[in-house]
Amino acid sequence: MKKLLLTAGVFTFVLPGCGVQKEANVQEATTDEETRQEETKKQHQVTKKDGVMYVDGHVFANKKVNLPNDYAPGEDPKARAELNRMMQDANTKDGTSLVFCSGFRSYETQTQLYNNYVARDGEAVANKYSAKPGNSEHQTGLAFDVGSANASDDFQMSFVETKEGQWVKAHAHEYGFIIRYPEGKEKVTGYQYEPWHLRYVGKDLAQKIHDQNTTLEEYFNYGM
Ligand SMILES: [Zn+2]
Repeated sequence: MKKLLLTAGVFTFVLPGCGVQKEANVQEATTDEETRQEETKKQHQVTKKDGVMYVDGHVFANKKVNLPNDYAPGEDPKARAELNRMMQDANTKDGTSLVFCSGFRSYETQTQLYNNYVARDGEAVANKYSAKPGNSEHQTGLAFDVGSANASDDFQMSFVETKEGQWVKAHAHEYGFIIRYPEGKEKVTGYQYEPWHLRYVGKDLAQKIHDQNTTLEEYFNYGM
């Protein structure tokens, strides 16, 4: 009887010790998601100027973050110069027929386009491929649509199968452009894959986005 009580006593001393140990482990653990969010807060700066949102100085526009109606910067000269250099390199060095399809679009032009799409396909379908006025990246003057020699592939998924589509996929980042709405990221960007739509972000960021196979939304952890 005396021996049994002693044994029970030893157990009560050991058990609380284990409990403390477990609690400490739980407190130390943080999820990957929390770490990612903390790092994003430190690394990326979101600012607003005249109603336009910027992340690390890059103009940001998507289906959730819109531009003011009167924001009309026109075509960005640096972005256009890089686009021209890219098309020239692709065509003269690699024998493609990469062509410019469209660039800057004003709020008013986007309104007309969007209304036409809705009239033709209905709002739900139109929203999958077209931005509403104020949400189009073309309004920033930093987005361009490119095409191939065969105009029937322009603005079509088949563009990616063309020589020009393949070239753009492999080299656009070298000129500071990203495929803004990549394949498999439809839920992040809100758009179907658009292998022809390029956004100028500069070479450093374009290289990172290309290497990480990511999107502006995911990279900045913003606007999702
Ligand atoms: Zn476009």
